[in-house]
Amino acid sequence: MKTLMAPWRMEHVEGKTDKLSGCLFEPPGKCSHSKDRLLLLRDNRTVVLLNRFPYTNGHLLVAPTDHIASITSLNSLSLSALMNMVSSATKILQEQLHPDGFNIGCNQGEVAGAGIADHLHFHIVPRWEGDHNFMTVLGEVRSIPEHLLATYDKLLPHFQALLQPTTSPEQTHE
Ligand SMILES: [Zn+2]
Repeated sequence: MKTLMAPWRMEHVEGKTDKLSGCLFEPPGKCSHSKDRLLLLRDNRTVVLLNRFPYTNGHLLVAPTDHIASITSLNSLSLSALMNMVSSATKILQEQLHPDGFNIGCNQGEVAGAGIADHLHFHIVPRWEGDHNFMTVLGEVRSIPEHLLATYDKLLPHFQALLQPTTSPEQTHE
């Protein structure tokens, strides 16, 4: 149980140390991706970010584009889009990073451990046998570690491929 809960606690670190202004899940502009913000994908309904303070390599955050705090506020189209994106993101991580398993979940409300309680989001944490000490090392790092950017580059084309064919990454890059 201790291991299961640990990924969600890291959000407190993320929320307190993020230097970028505005809501983490609402990057400015219309860009479908942004390396500076670790934004892997934004479409009409969902946003996918690589967690700046990952519990393991490939730790993703998936949120609706709307700034809402509760899953009960989503209409069925947005709810469906969100869960489909959680599934698609898990599939990409499985194929690209080959983890042994996943923690997939959501903390709703501060009392439940949400670091950013006013914008609903799901965590997808790839897990490997023996990965428990990963965050002990990364927790002290303030800037984005090089391997995080390498993971971003590896995952980006697979997320951009989820966009509609009419939207080209070149056209939407900020
Ligand atoms: Zn927001």
